[in-house]
Amino acid sequence: MSILIKGLNKVYPNGNHALKDVDLEIPTGMFGLLGPNGAGKSTLMRILVALMEPTSGKVDIFGYDLHKQRKEIRRILGYLPQDFRFFAKYKTYEFLDYAARLSGMNSHKQRKQAVDAMLENVGLFDVRERYANKLSGGMKRRLGIAQALIHEPKVIIVDEPTTGLDPEERIRFRNLLSEVSKNDVTIILSTHIVGDISSTCKCMALMNKGEVSFYGSPEDMLKRTEGKVWRIQVNSDELHEVDKRYPVISTIPSGAGWEVQVVADEITGYQAEAYPPNLEHAYVYYMENLNARGNY
Ligand code: ADP
Repeated sequence: MSILIKGLNKVYPNGNHALKDVDLEIPTGMFGLLGPNGAGKSTLMRILVALMEPTSGKVDIFGYDLHKQRKEIRRILGYLPQDFRFFAKYKTYEFLDYAARLSGMNSHKQRKQAVDAMLENVGLFDVRERYANKLSGGMKRRLGIAQALIHEPKVIIVDEPTTGLDPEERIRFRNLLSEVSKNDVTIILSTHIVGDISSTCKCMALMNKGEVSFYGSPEDMLKRTEGKVWRIQVNSDELHEVDKRYPVISTIPSGAGWEVQVVADEITGYQAEAYPPNLEHAYVYYMENLNARGNY
């Protein structure tokens, strides 16, 4: 295990209990942290990168105690925050050179080599002379990951990296992360977008209201949702009723009525056919199920 989190709590000064007894084991490779806005993902990320102290609990990163060895941990960490901004005065390569200098790379020659190689790696070499704040959204995100990678960290934490990117840029960014994760590093990818947690994440956690509500592989999450997604054929009157009773995923016009997809443990009073779940269905099922149980 590269990261061990035990009994982590965070209560903000205004009383918001953002993390509630979070236990997590994060292995090497790509780890997906999925959850809706307000779930506590950013709070957890900020604690992991030692920007914020937890209220209680313990975090161990590659054998270092986060509470006692912050300096050592910062050295092996790379972080791409959600609202990463570039200084207007820097060109793309200058910005990366600046990040390399900050990380302690003092030799000019060594820095130039590292910066050029990284620009190639993230597909920004051809735009290296462009001012960083003039890059496209996807390019900015790639430059963000480049600055997080320049000192070859063992753990990389990326917070909501694909928000606001168009589909093509989103796919490119995901592929870049999965390339990086092959080099024996741990990447924690925090997102509210189900599609970001693809087969590239061998392990994932689902967070909701400060708690971990699922931990395992995306395949596990899918498996546990099998037999919980249903297809129901209804007329317009019934549509309203079904919508009130079950979480509806999609409604498609079909014949004289509608074909509705819902998630539920079982369906009563309607002719329903089980439907193979995808990760989006599984996410809705877990969210709805938890709310229905009234745990929070
Ligand atoms: P996520 O990243 O999953 O959207 P956050 O960690 O940002 O979730 O937020 C978790 C909870 O903590 C939310 O209820 C949010 O309103 C609250 N929160 C976040 N930051 C602060 C803060 N600085 N002060 C008080 N409450 C906060």
